[in-house]
Amino acid sequence: MSATILTRHLHSHGLDLVTDTHKYRKVVALRPINKGSVVITSRPLCNPIIFPTHRAQHCETCFRTRGSDSSSSDSGTSVAAAGGAGSGELELERCSVCKKRYYCNRDCFTVAWKGWHKWVCQDKDMEDLDYEMLKMIVISIERLRNGAFKESKQSGVTTATAAAAASHGTGEQESLALTEYVFSTLMGHEAISDPAEITKYREIATKIREQLIVAKFPFKSESSRGEPPSVAELMRYLCRFHCNNFSIHDSQLFTMAEGTFPVGALFNHSCRPNAIVMYEGQTQVVRTLEDIAVGQEVCTSYVDNGVQRAERRQLLRGKYYFDCLCPRCGDEESSRAAEKTGFRILDDLIEGDQDGEDGKKVDGEWLTKQFDTIILPGARSLQVAGPSLQPPTMINRSSFTSYLIHSLVPLIQTGATEQEYTERLFEIYNSLRMTPHCTPKPFTTTVMTNATSFFNTSLEHQSWALASKIGTFILALYLMIYPRHHPLVGLHCFTLAKCLWNDVEGGMTSVRLSHEILKLSRNILTVSHGRTGQNGSLVKEVEAFMSVVETELGS
Ligand SMILES: [Zn+2]
Ligand SMILES: [Zn+2]
Ligand SMILES: [Zn+2]
Repeated sequence: MSATILTRHLHSHGLDLVTDTHKYRKVVALRPINKGSVVITSRPLCNPIIFPTHRAQHCETCFRTRGSDSSSSDSGTSVAAAGGAGSGELELERCSVCKKRYYCNRDCFTVAWKGWHKWVCQDKDMEDLDYEMLKMIVISIERLRNGAFKESKQSGVTTATAAAAASHGTGEQESLALTEYVFSTLMGHEAISDPAEITKYREIATKIREQLIVAKFPFKSESSRGEPPSVAELMRYLCRFHCNNFSIHDSQLFTMAEGTFPVGALFNHSCRPNAIVMYEGQTQVVRTLEDIAVGQEVCTSYVDNGVQRAERRQLLRGKYYFDCLCPRCGDEESSRAAEKTGFRILDDLIEGDQDGEDGKKVDGEWLTKQFDTIILPGARSLQVAGPSLQPPTMINRSSFTSYLIHSLVPLIQTGATEQEYTERLFEIYNSLRMTPHCTPKPFTTTVMTNATSFFNTSLEHQSWALASKIGTFILALYLMIYPRHHPLVGLHCFTLAKCLWNDVEGGMTSVRLSHEILKLSRNILTVSHGRTGQNGSLVKEVEAFMSVVETELGS
């Protein structure tokens, strides 16, 4: 296995890996890639680790969720064996020995048992994520070197990958040998890791090594002559895992597991990403959020784009050992420059007020007053993109919401290019910076956090009219901060549309707006989630709800 095979693999997906002075290396497009495309699918190096709190909810092998429709899946191993198509809700059963891991059927259990479960079933240390991940990586790499993974005799995991690749990717399928090779090339940053962490890693590595020898794990690889890898080697695995791991989330973006996806880890970070990482079962899917031109770098985001600069900087330096030079962060010098342009302005806008007013007074009554003034947009005003709007003379929650929604939503609905969209966005950033605003500033991340929790409370209380107003305000904030086709924006629109539809006080005006927001949700989720697989079923849900609303509108 060599760099040539990685290059061939990436080329088959229209991608190239080129060296970069700042970033070590980067993935660029070899051909134009449309927004909403699958760039590549990536497989896990070993079975991902489902969080202990989520274990009872997911099959360890196919990741399907308890209670989901047992007949609809393209990632299951032998879905038919689960009781036949259309048999209803998916049931999970525990391993009868450890009573800790759950499986949807015998086949999924057998795949896991032979692959890794028998080596961890009785291991009491498997509650520490580092321990668990390292042990799974060692087992996976050793089994691969022993030839236990025959690509022709596909294991359940391989079948799941094949199914996802067939329905999404166009290039060549990733072999496990390639996965392991790419893992070996990832940066581990051992030299600059925290000494206390290094001590912990050494203890874990030593323990796992001894434990696998006692359990008579078949270390047979030629290079090691039946010996397990050295403690130093195991520590390198753990360091690489730490700098390159992914949180696996479901289609609603709820995280449920951690995994190592070496090919997916080749993509660099940007706080304004043009691609997103999604999951189909255990397969990682990288999707484009915007059209990508030949030679352009494809970037995903390692952190939430909704957090402030200082927090992002700390997360990226602390976990991944780099300072971000993306269009939003820039380098130190350009960030200090008096005349900032474009995305550089965004973080100045969303940072808290210096007077500390921000974040105070968050009792329900005060918040209700804040949001009650918001006027919902008319459905028709969201359909046609016109010339730039005049910014309001004073920015408060109400004028901010209306300015952002009326300026940006029609551009998404009418399929404006990324350039047209960002130009409009930059105009907005500039006018928000220049226009006087009320205190606290209505568009900080602190306000966003408060508004989100107040939104959730109003959903719980089924206060639909209030929830519709807060939800519209949050949509305006999301459009200001996140890429327009970010899955978070699409998911939020779906929830907002339900609030509007439920708001009987709003009458047909609310129903018409609900329909418009559903169209927006569909447009965004088609890009972020696609129309196939488990993620695609969300778009179908939106459309099913749309037809209910359309019936009510009589169209
Ligand atoms: Zn399963
Ligand atoms: Zn067990
Ligand atoms: Zn950045």
